[in-house]
Amino acid sequence: MKVYFKILAFAKPIEKFAIPYVILTLLSIMFGLINFTILIPVVDLLFSTNNQDKLKIVTEMPHFSFTVKFITETFYYCMHLSVLHYGKIGALMFVSIILFVSVILTNLFRYLSQIILEDLRIHTLLNLRKTVFNKVMELHLGFFSNERKGDIMSKISTDVQTVQSTITNTLITFFKEPMTVIIYFVALFRLSVPLTLFTIFFIPITGAIIALIVKKLRAIATDSANSMSSMLSILDESLTALRVVKAFNATTYVQNKFHNENIKFSIVNKKMVKKNELASPVSEILGVCVVVGILLYGGIIVLRGDNSLKAGEFIAYIAIFSQVLRPAKLITSSFSALVGGIIAGERVLELINTKNELVNKPDALVIDTFKSEIEFKEVCFSYQQNLVLNNISFKIPKGKTIALIGPSGGGKSTISDLIPRFYDPQSGQILFDGIDIKDCTMESLREQMGIVNQESLLFNDTIFNNIAFGKPNATHEEVVHAAKVANAHNFIMESENGYESSIGDRGVKLSGGQKQRLNIARAVLKNPPVLILDEATSALDTESEKLVQEALFRLMENRTTLVIAHRLSTIQNADEILVVDKGQLVERGTHNELIANEKSVYYKLNSMQTL
Ligand code: ADP
Repeated sequence: MKVYFKILAFAKPIEKFAIPYVILTLLSIMFGLINFTILIPVVDLLFSTNNQDKLKIVTEMPHFSFTVKFITETFYYCMHLSVLHYGKIGALMFVSIILFVSVILTNLFRYLSQIILEDLRIHTLLNLRKTVFNKVMELHLGFFSNERKGDIMSKISTDVQTVQSTITNTLITFFKEPMTVIIYFVALFRLSVPLTLFTIFFIPITGAIIALIVKKLRAIATDSANSMSSMLSILDESLTALRVVKAFNATTYVQNKFHNENIKFSIVNKKMVKKNELASPVSEILGVCVVVGILLYGGIIVLRGDNSLKAGEFIAYIAIFSQVLRPAKLITSSFSALVGGIIAGERVLELINTKNELVNKPDALVIDTFKSEIEFKEVCFSYQQNLVLNNISFKIPKGKTIALIGPSGGGKSTISDLIPRFYDPQSGQILFDGIDIKDCTMESLREQMGIVNQESLLFNDTIFNNIAFGKPNATHEEVVHAAKVANAHNFIMESENGYESSIGDRGVKLSGGQKQRLNIARAVLKNPPVLILDEATSALDTESEKLVQEALFRLMENRTTLVIAHRLSTIQNADEILVVDKGQLVERGTHNELIANEKSVYYKLNSMQTL
C-alpha cells in the first residue's frame, strides 16, 4: 500500500482534483440512490387496493429542513396532490418525471467526476514519466554498467504503462466505490436492520477468499515484469548489433534467444490470466449466494406481514443491494489487478530512488575559466573490484597537447572519463587549476571541456540541431562557422535540405567521416578551453581522413588537449606522450625521446604500425 501512496504523490496538487471529484461523486451516488428508492412508492402505488391501504400519505407541506426526511415528505406530499387531482395515473407520471430527471443528473455528475479522474490520471503519469527520465539522465555513469538498458527502457515504457492501467484505474474503485457502498448501506439499514446485518455477516468471508487469490498473483506478476524486461534487453541488444548479427550469420541464434524469452513471458502471462479471471466468477458466485440468502430471509419477513418490511421496501432493498454488489465486486477484482500495478510501481520507484553516487557538494565551487593546468595526483580507480588505473600522476599544462597511447584495455578511456568526472577515483586527486574536481560543480567543470568521441554520438534530428546540441541558442551564423572549421559545411550544403536535413537514427544516413566532422563542429561551436579527443580508429578513406585530421588540427589550435591516439603518426607533435599499459604509466616523453629507446613499448608499437 505504501507503493500505492508513493505513486499517488505524483498527483500533486491532489486537492485540485480530489475536492471537486468527491463532491461530484457524492452527488452522483445520491441521485443514483433516488433512482432505486423511487421503486418503493411505485410498487406501493401499483399494488395498493385503495389509497389508504399501503400508500404513505403526507397531507401537509412539511417545514423546510436540510434532511432526508424533508425531501421524502415533500415528495410524498406532491404525490398526494397528484393522486388527489389526477388519480393514480397522475401520480405515476409525477414519479416518472422525477425518475427521469434524477437519472439524467446521476449520469451528468458521474460523467463530470470521471473526467476529473482521468485528468488526475494523465497528470500523475506525466509527472511519473518525467521524473523517471530525468532521474535516468542524472544518474552516474557507473549505474549503467550494472543495470541493463532494456530493463531501464521497460521501466519507463511498460511499467509506467502498467501503473497507468492499474494503479490509477483503481483510484476509481478505491475512492468512489467504497463511498457508494457506504451510502447504499446506510440506505439499506434504513430499510431493514436485521436483513442488512445478515448481509454484512457474509462480507468478511468473501474478502478472505479473494485475498487468497491475490496473494498467489503477486509472485506471478513479478515474474512477468522481469520477463518483459529481458525481452526488451534482447531486442535492444539485437537492434544495436544488427550488423554484427547478420555478419556472423547469428540471426537464428538471436531469434531463438528472443523466442525462448517470449515463450517464458507467455507462460507466465497465461498463469496470471487464469488467476486474474478467477477473481471475478468467484466473487460473482459469492454475491449470488448472499442474494439468495436475502431473498429467503427477507421474503420470510415480508410474508410474516408485521409491517417491519413492506413489499415495496423489499423490492427496493433487493434493487439497492444488487447495486452494492457491483462496487463490492469491483473492489475485490481491482485488488487482483492492483497487484500487477504495485509490482510495476515498485520497479519504477526503485529506479527513481536509486542513489546518485556522483552529486555536487553543497558548497561546490563554480569554475568559470581555465588558467594553468589539470593534474592527476596518484590516481587509482576500479570499476567494480578489479583495479583499472594504478597510481597515475601527470599534468596537462594549459595550451599543451598530451597524448595517451598503449594497448587496448590499458585504461586510456578511463583516464579521459575521469577528467569530466563521469566517475570519481577511489584514491588520489584530480586537480583543475589546483582545485580538486570533487569540490567543483560538475556542470561548470564540463562547461570547460569539449569531448570528441570515436563513437559518433549523433541524435535522430536535423544537422543544425546536432551541431547546436551543447549550445541550444546558437545562431545560424555560428553553426555555419563551426561547420566550416570542421570541414563539414560543403557536404552539409550538398545534402537535400542543407542544415535542416535529418540525419536518421544515430546518423545512419551519413558516412563515418561525415559523422566525425559533425562531432568536431559541435565541439568547435562549444569552444571549450580543454579538449578530450578519442581519436578515430574506424578506417576512413584517405580523403575523408585528411578532412577529419585537418578539422581536428584546427579544433586543437590554441587549446589544451588530451588525445587518445590510435595512430602514432598523428601525435608526433604532441608535447608529451604517455604510454599506458595495464593501468599504469609505463613510459613518458616526446616522440623523439621515446623512439630513441629501442626497448620501449612505444618503439614496439611504432614499428608495428610502420609495418
Ligand atoms: P582503453 O581505453 O585503454 O582501451 P579502457 O579504459 O576502456 O581501456 O578499459 C580499461 C579496463 O577497464 C579494461 O580492462 C576494461 O575491460 C575495463 N572497463 C572499461 N569500462 C568498464 C566498465 N564500464 N565497467 C567495468 N569495466 C570496465
